[in-house]
Amino acid sequence: MDSNNGEFMLQGYLNYQYTREVGMMEQTEQNQDIVIVGTGAAGLFCALQFPEDRNIWMITKETVEESDSFLAQGGICVLKGMSDYESYFEDTMRAGHYENNTESVELMIKSSPDIIQSLIDYGVEFEMQNGKLQYTREGAHSTSRILYHEDLTGKEISTKLWDRVKERKNITILEHTMLLDLICEDNTCHGVVVKQADGKIAAISANYVLLACGGIGGLFEHSTNFPHLTGDALAIALQHDIRLKDVNYIQIHPTTLYSTKPGRRFLISESVRGEGAKLYNKNMERFVDELLPRDLLTAEIRKQMEKDDSKFVWLSMVDMGEEEIKKRFPNIYKKCVEEGYDPAKECIPVTPAQHYYMGGIWVDIHSKTSMNHLYAIGETSCNGVHGANRLASNSLLESLVFARAAAEQIQEQYTALSSVEGISLEKYKDFDKLEASYKKMVLAEIERMEQHV
Ligand SMILES: Cc1cc2nc3c(=O)[nH]c(=O)nc-3n(C[C@H](O)[C@H](O)[C@H](O)COP(=O)(O)OP(=O)(O)OC[C@H]3O[C@@H](n4cnc5c(N)ncnc54)[C@H](O)[C@@H]3O)c2cc1C
Repeated sequence: MDSNNGEFMLQGYLNYQYTREVGMMEQTEQNQDIVIVGTGAAGLFCALQFPEDRNIWMITKETVEESDSFLAQGGICVLKGMSDYESYFEDTMRAGHYENNTESVELMIKSSPDIIQSLIDYGVEFEMQNGKLQYTREGAHSTSRILYHEDLTGKEISTKLWDRVKERKNITILEHTMLLDLICEDNTCHGVVVKQADGKIAAISANYVLLACGGIGGLFEHSTNFPHLTGDALAIALQHDIRLKDVNYIQIHPTTLYSTKPGRRFLISESVRGEGAKLYNKNMERFVDELLPRDLLTAEIRKQMEKDDSKFVWLSMVDMGEEEIKKRFPNIYKKCVEEGYDPAKECIPVTPAQHYYMGGIWVDIHSKTSMNHLYAIGETSCNGVHGANRLASNSLLESLVFARAAAEQIQEQYTALSSVEGISLEKYKDFDKLEASYKKMVLAEIERMEQHV
């Protein structure tokens, strides 16, 4: 891993620094201004919004690259001009079954040009032609308003954010470091308890904690998410009576590459359909409007799979032509070929899989949770912007808009906390059991909420 701390640029040196500093925490608690749990787009962008005199630790359960932000293919939405405002707002609301929080939707859409400018300033390269940004379209969008970088938009954004973070001396990233608990007193968050890379348990006190822990795909057998994203923050929130919202709002993506192999499902981005790919049943007949919102399209595909007695339907990109497929979707093309299908010549089998989590830790418009000094951002949080179903390519945007909102409020209201004395770390020793119990807890809560519907 590269260090983000200018003094330690080589892997060995960072590991040394890490062991030395964090290892000390068994006796001596570390005090940070801010701890951010999660190094996806939400966490990285948030860290960059703080001034350089704030001491920030970021922790991630695996490596930095292993976050869903790196996997985003399709792109990121932007308001192209005020003439598109009503339409973008309506598309987001319609996809969300009008259960969206309109204040959040308005803030997200209106902030989008500014957020995109920040990304460009951080070095993110979006597709351009003749000096103009190019836009693609995805399901349930009434026009093309999605910026992209090949079919690797998330990797481009996350890598550039990470590069900028590495330049900041005030930000330290600790990989393979898992959040086990929050340190709470009188409904105020004073820090985190973590399992370090060396397996030791440690307490880190902080004036503010931001949870940017991503989604819950790891709880499902078939998901496009990284398997370590299992909703730990939700379980911890439940334990501390931190408010959750829309816990059972889970998005299934209609088109992932069908495979019998175990592990993460490979997404066939909605922009493939936005650019003209068609769906076929087993008799090679079209059966649905490919640009329906995700939940409705998923339901139609499932119906068709049942009728066909099949585990997949077919998707054809053939009409796009080999050159266009390779240019526009190089990563998808490569993966399909690896799996034995040539999308330039034949249909590929696709099937729905868990993809995104609309629910999460309830937050207000500034991303503040129901606990003082605790914020939640990105997919872990629920500010209601997506309602019951997320519109394609609104997620990266949402993560960044509300990460900035959190940082701004923390800066405005910044108050130091006294650290909590006598934290017993004994109960965290069996962390495998603890992790398993967190998974059970989240699944049980989803089940409970499902039954309430
Ligand atoms: C295949 C795929 C394609 C997608 N395509 C698009 C797209 O085109 N456009 C779009 O807008 N969105 C897309 N999305 C959704 C989008 O990528 C995510 O919603 C968004 O990136 C979430 O960012 P995040 O920072 O909240 O979480 P993530 O990027 O998932 O990061 C979560 C972080 O939390 C850490 N973490 C979790 N639990 C713990 C713990 N207990 N302790 C320590 N660390 C922990 C993880 O290690 C990770 O660093 C896609 C998602 C997938 C899976």
